[in-house]
Amino acid sequence: MRKGIQPQPGIMDIALYQGGASHLDGVRNVLKLSSNENPLGPSDATKEAAIRACHDLHRYPSTDHGPLRQAIADVWDVDPARVFCGVGSGEVLKLLSEAYAGPGDEVVFTEHGFSMYPIYAHACGATPVVVPENERVVDVDAILRACGPKTRLVFVANPANPTGTMIGQAEVARLADGLPPQALLVLDGAYAEFVDGFDAGKALVEARDNVVMSRTFSKIYGLGGMRVGWGYGPQAVIDVLNRIRGPFNLSAPALAAAEAAVRDTAHTQKCRIENAKWRDWLANALAELGVPSDTSTANFILARFADEAEANACDEHLRSAGIIVRKVAGYGLPHCLRMTVGDESACRRVAHAVAQFKGAA
Ligand SMILES: *Cc1c(COP(=O)(O)O)cnc(C)c1O
Repeated sequence: MRKGIQPQPGIMDIALYQGGASHLDGVRNVLKLSSNENPLGPSDATKEAAIRACHDLHRYPSTDHGPLRQAIADVWDVDPARVFCGVGSGEVLKLLSEAYAGPGDEVVFTEHGFSMYPIYAHACGATPVVVPENERVVDVDAILRACGPKTRLVFVANPANPTGTMIGQAEVARLADGLPPQALLVLDGAYAEFVDGFDAGKALVEARDNVVMSRTFSKIYGLGGMRVGWGYGPQAVIDVLNRIRGPFNLSAPALAAAEAAVRDTAHTQKCRIENAKWRDWLANALAELGVPSDTSTANFILARFADEAEANACDEHLRSAGIIVRKVAGYGLPHCLRMTVGDESACRRVAHAVAQFKGAA
């Protein structure tokens, strides 16, 4: 490469994102519990909508995402004009970073925060600022102390990944209230639908002008392969995002699948109930084996081991049993393993393998 040809500042500071593994050499019947995917997958109505859309693949898709925004508005009681649709919620978060932060600016998130946040910060040349948590729970006071005149964005996932913990509405409101005037609070609600009755920050978005929330179709809707997410925020922010996104950022099958998925509230409800049931069962089963976890509000549990060596040994044992979970040393949690809540047989298989590891089976 010629000397003068250089990427923008920050880009070479990015460590490549590591996705959850899905293969184990020489093992058949692998159980992938490393990416928080929905074991039930998308509903039949969702799959049929995607297939129907394939009959018109020669046509460009909608550029304003009107039908999907209306479906989201109908189901979540939000203003469709202030809904923004992206290629996964990842695109929503990335475009927010590009639009609101750059060299010299700071992007704040917490020590066990989602691993994409530093990538978004570096990609736009901004400086990531990492704030401590309080025993794996987001600490609003610590965030507020870290904010200053350079803070442009604050990312908080609620529920959080990989801890599975949440902070309450009053804490989130206190955070929004305490931010400096030029800072935008981004509430990442990737797991919001797993919490019954949770508004993911909608009321706060509507009451304030410095809060945006993001949501995804990759988790409870079982559409990680389709890449659809959405954001809800002040009209001024949505107008900015619409200026910089690709005009056809979402494919026609993706739009059709997401619209059908959000309208299929019975399937969503079933997934929420099944997840809660087997999540609590798995957490209890592991706790009885001496592997505790914080009460999870999402579709995974963060299993805690005595130390890093035990976590790694358990991971090895699970792999030998054909089970892939997620190591989270990169999140500052080397003594933990994040395990997606699968269906009943998956949870029983995990509990059995951990029992074997602990010498209890
Ligand atoms: C899975 C996840 C997302 C979703 O990303 P998509 O781009 O929508 O697939 C966003 N934030 C967090 C914290 C996640 O765990």
